[in-house]
Amino acid sequence: MQQLSEKIVPKFYHLIKNQTCVSLILDSSQPGVQAMSNSQLTPGVVPGRLTTEVYAVNFSDVAPPLDHHEARVAADRCYFCYDAPCVTACPTSIDIPLFIRQISTGTPDAAAMTIFNQNILGGICARVCPTENLCEGSCVREAAEGKPVQIGALQRYATDHLMDQGSHPFKRAAPTAKRVAVVGAGPAGLSAAHRLAVKGHEVTLFDARQGGRAQRIRNRDL
Ligand code: SF4
Repeated sequence: MQQLSEKIVPKFYHLIKNQTCVSLILDSSQPGVQAMSNSQLTPGVVPGRLTTEVYAVNFSDVAPPLDHHEARVAADRCYFCYDAPCVTACPTSIDIPLFIRQISTGTPDAAAMTIFNQNILGGICARVCPTENLCEGSCVREAAEGKPVQIGALQRYATDHLMDQGSHPFKRAAPTAKRVAVVGAGPAGLSAAHRLAVKGHEVTLFDARQGGRAQRIRNRDL
């Protein structure tokens, strides 16, 4: 029963969550379903109102990652357009047809480097970018068929594939003895700090915090 619920629940849950944004609650009196330490009616803010299994499902991705086969199929839908409108629409100008081609030819790590060389935050952007208004909204297959190439999901597939290997894809150049202050630890500041550090400069990143104080983030944190 437990094995069955591990397989069936996530699939069933994604079906209903994608359509209705509801949460799933399992009956802990059923065999194979772990008991909860608190009930739905326990007063106050307490943990354990749901089973561990249900917490895992409820906090899983709304858009699940593509597996290898799904990624190859999704990549094969790309026309590799010359003057690709998806690239024009991307604020970071990632070479989208190139990284999709690299996925379709079975080199997802090369695809990840195409992305990271242009946007070191490409793994995060793959999850949070409003792709329906940017690259996917401009995809020629969206205009023709109302179904764009899944650029965001493919970007996530490639970057996850590389990051899951646990090594950092960039190395620092020899120290230049130059020091650079970067003000603001938003995406632009972090990206600039990363690129400067890769070139061997000593970078200090400052970010405003509550009360107007500045928080110094050390170079070794980058
Ligand atoms: S616009 Fe669509 S089909 Fe054309 S290169 Fe971009 S993702 Fe591929």
